[in-house]
Amino acid sequence: APLINIKEVSYEYEQTKALDHISMTVEAGDFLAILGPNGSGKSTLLKIMLGLIRPSEGSVELFGIDSKQFKHREWIGYVSQKSNSFNSAFPATVQEVVAGGLAKKAGLFHKLPKNTAQQVEEALDAVGMKSFKNRSISELSGGQQQRVFIARALVSKPKVLILDEPTVGIDVQNVQAFYDMLAALNRERNITLVLVTHDVDTVTDRISHVACLNQTIHFHGFKDQLHM
Ligand code: ADP
Ligand code: ADP
Repeated sequence: APLINIKEVSYEYEQTKALDHISMTVEAGDFLAILGPNGSGKSTLLKIMLGLIRPSEGSVELFGIDSKQFKHREWIGYVSQKSNSFNSAFPATVQEVVAGGLAKKAGLFHKLPKNTAQQVEEALDAVGMKSFKNRSISELSGGQQQRVFIARALVSKPKVLILDEPTVGIDVQNVQAFYDMLAALNRERNITLVLVTHDVDTVTDRISHVACLNQTIHFHGFKDQLHM
């Protein structure tokens, strides 16, 4: 079964039809970008994938299980758009932020389990931030903070990682290196990746599949394989 199977999903807020009969699948190993301009329903679709809201029509299966019955939330990692506006007044170190990804699951630790330090280090290594573990999160650049929040989502070993507008707040000259890091996560560590972005210019051949929520996006020489 696909990891995520969205079938004929519609979603309506009181006034607005945000999604109109959307179908798409995410398969194991995909590096999928969901593209669409502001207002096209990207955030709504992510909330449906994460089980935060239920579709008005249609169905969602996660790992072959109807999302109504799906209990394994730790299989789906999420990095929200607002992650990197993390309160910089809070003097956390990088490793504390990443360990928080485990605490969320297990309740707050008063004492870190023995293997936590190692899990944190592995997650930081996966995003190229191991040498920053003792630094304060607030002194890092937007792109470095984004990597730390990805490590925080990775530390509980999800099978799919969902990223909302991950390149917002990253300097233009660092975006390519950021995508290279994501591609390495995808290929070398077998993390299935789904990201949403309004920025078609940041989409590169690192991405294996593209889905568009609006017909007005045009690709220039990009070999896309549409999922929807
Ligand atoms: P995107 O993430 O692509 O910008 P959204 O999913 O946030 O799109 O929004 C899709 C549409 O639904 C937009 O017209 C937006 O104004 C509307 N919308 C989103 N969230 C809400 C909400 N909580 N209440 C009412 N309308 C909403
Ligand atoms: P994004 O760019 O990721 O869509 P936004 O900043 O547009 O995020 O939206 C932030 C929050 O506001 C979301 O939870 C979204 O559902 C809600 N929202 C977006 N549009 C509307 C709207 N028209 N009315 C009410 N809430 C909205």
